[in-house]
Amino acid sequence: MPELPEVEVVRRGLASWVRGRTITGAEVLDPRSVRRHAPGPADLIGNLEGAVVADVVRRGKFLWLPLLESAPAHSGAADDVVPSFALMAHLGMSGQLLMEDSALPDEKHLKVRFTLSPARDSSGTEMPDELRFVDQRIFGGMFLTDLVPTPDGAPGGLSETGLPLVAAEAAHIARDPLDPAFSFDEFYRRLRLRRTGIKRALLDQGLISGVGNIYADESLWAARMHFARPTDTMRRADALRLVEAAREVMTRALAAGGTSFDSLYVNVNGASGYFSRSLNAYGREGLPCPRCEELGLHTLIRRDSFMNRSSYSCPVCQPRPRNGRW
Ligand SMILES: [Zn+2]
Repeated sequence: MPELPEVEVVRRGLASWVRGRTITGAEVLDPRSVRRHAPGPADLIGNLEGAVVADVVRRGKFLWLPLLESAPAHSGAADDVVPSFALMAHLGMSGQLLMEDSALPDEKHLKVRFTLSPARDSSGTEMPDELRFVDQRIFGGMFLTDLVPTPDGAPGGLSETGLPLVAAEAAHIARDPLDPAFSFDEFYRRLRLRRTGIKRALLDQGLISGVGNIYADESLWAARMHFARPTDTMRRADALRLVEAAREVMTRALAAGGTSFDSLYVNVNGASGYFSRSLNAYGREGLPCPRCEELGLHTLIRRDSFMNRSSYSCPVCQPRPRNGRW
């Protein structure tokens, strides 16, 4: 399943390919991939044809394309036109967004095809004319959603234009640690109101978005914090250290092109997002803790069952609290 850094890699790639281009046609090859668009595939296609991709925005793992209903009448007036709706793209477990030339054969699991107006990149090379949504397991999908103003007036998420609009479907989720408008004060205030363990809080998209199981474990390891630490008594400095650790771990993963466990995951230009990861805790049960090892200690990473999944931690660096909440 793609985590936040992978989705950000997709967002950046996609933005460079599709921004400013007109969707000249759309084809739904499998209606299951647009099942969340209630009015049906024909309505989706009808609304997309002729629409212009104004931007590519991400908040947490939510990704959407704000759309203009049609190309602005005057080329110079593009900045004055505000997008009114968006195409939401849910990658699910195995969804891929591929830029391809229409001459290339369809992928086996091609679900939705978008044809784009011709465009050239900065070197003058013609860009591929199709955006394809390929999904093997059909947990992902696409649908149209309204854009609504952000309550704080800040950009809706990471984007190229910074418009203060958010997809209605993503308005309920909190900002993620890579979002410049993320408010630590707000996060800490709300964290203290919870009576839960810190990892549960980290995975709560309403409190902080985009932190999945892998990055939760890696952030907690980096911050030397046990996953069961109670949130209601957490000191401000500890919470800050954890958020900064999350930001750092994700920024590093982003620089490396994202990290994904799913070999099905392919980023927007078709290159695999999989890379040799440098994980310190996640998935390393029984292997030495790298930080302890540097100190000459031979401590093994342990695995605990947690929310039907696993939590990986170092018993020395991340001591279990007496009053922990699992
Ligand atoms: Zn350790």
